[in-house]
Amino acid sequence: MNSPQPQARSARRPGRHFLQIPGPTNIPDPVLRALAAPTIDHRGPAFTELARSVLARLGPVFGTTGPLALYPSSGTGAWEAALVNTLSPGDRVLFFETGHFAVLWRELAERLGLDVEIVPGDWRHGADPDTLADRLAHDPHHRIKAVCVVHNETSTGVTSRIPALRTALDEASHPALFLVDTVSSLGSTDFRHDEWGVDVTVTGSQKGLMLPPGLGFNAIGPRALEAHRTARLPRAYWDWDPLLDAAEHGRFPYTPATNLLYGLDVALDLLTEEGLPAVFARHTRHAAATRAAVRGWGLTVLCADAREYSPTLTAVLMPDGQDADALRATVLDRYDMSLGSGLGRLAGRVFRIGHLGQLSDLQLAGALAGVQMGLAAHGFPSDPAGLTAALDVLATA
Ligand SMILES: *Cc1c(COP(=O)(O)O)cnc(C)c1O
Repeated sequence: MNSPQPQARSARRPGRHFLQIPGPTNIPDPVLRALAAPTIDHRGPAFTELARSVLARLGPVFGTTGPLALYPSSGTGAWEAALVNTLSPGDRVLFFETGHFAVLWRELAERLGLDVEIVPGDWRHGADPDTLADRLAHDPHHRIKAVCVVHNETSTGVTSRIPALRTALDEASHPALFLVDTVSSLGSTDFRHDEWGVDVTVTGSQKGLMLPPGLGFNAIGPRALEAHRTARLPRAYWDWDPLLDAAEHGRFPYTPATNLLYGLDVALDLLTEEGLPAVFARHTRHAAATRAAVRGWGLTVLCADAREYSPTLTAVLMPDGQDADALRATVLDRYDMSLGSGLGRLAGRVFRIGHLGQLSDLQLAGALAGVQMGLAAHGFPSDPAGLTAALDVLATA
């Protein structure tokens, strides 16, 4: 009867399931209600109003006044869109192997016929600005056409320093495009597409934007639009042109994800009402409380550089010989809480605590209590000082 399915268990469990994975995140009740509205004619006047409202208010979340492309897709689709709209077959593209998501994006680039150059990584650090400077210095003929970085590596809880990477590009006077994945940071972590000189920002709906999965986004800078004119990778569904043309009239070139746009409209209300600086501060505080708990339990935060701690999730390294998946199974079975698994080469060795999107201090405290009880129930020699340390951070911050 030990079904691992939270849905199956919740039928005979009081209270809410704790969804503490780093995306999809908890959906606020007003967003859920908005999603349940009847679908409207996407060529009618009410839809035009909705599309214009969403597009106008989304720009500030990306930190851009430029065009935005919205796809009915997961984040992976928005990765592909960023590449096929700006690059040509055989173009060299530089990737930093910061973790599992960087690897997946790189593999997608390879399948598209791009010539991928990789900066290897230990999955505990972000993309290093000095290493970027070095690679660019060894590329006098500007064969590298794009640099691709995952801002917040969701498999490791490491956030790369985007402004410092931009500085490396500028100091090398290198014309490569700068493409940044913000799927698990946008809407919860400070990010400024225009000010930081990002050429394409990629994101999805199901993390900081507090929506179900199903929307992919590109924020498009002027240099990316310029590259788009001559880019020769085949593109059809992902082509920016018809999307941007239609968006000017509050329309889409195909059937949009109407109900997700209702939800997005309300999610933008929530972000605006709380205020983006307050949203970012809340995430930074929750991350600090979570790290305090991890250290109190005598466990290790996977991120090895204090400048790169993720505000949105914490990956926790288990001691050798301890199975992180067994701990997660115990926490799910006993406390009805989902924690993130170790991905790729970290499978079984780490678990991830998501603390992004819709989350209050007491929800976080409950989640950390669940981990602490899970550690104890699992027979792990844990120290209850973890939760106390987290509550101290929450009380004083
Ligand atoms: C979740 C995530 C993705 C993948 O998005 P999908 O919606 O699963 O396609 C990409 N990059 C990062 C950093 C993510 O966290």
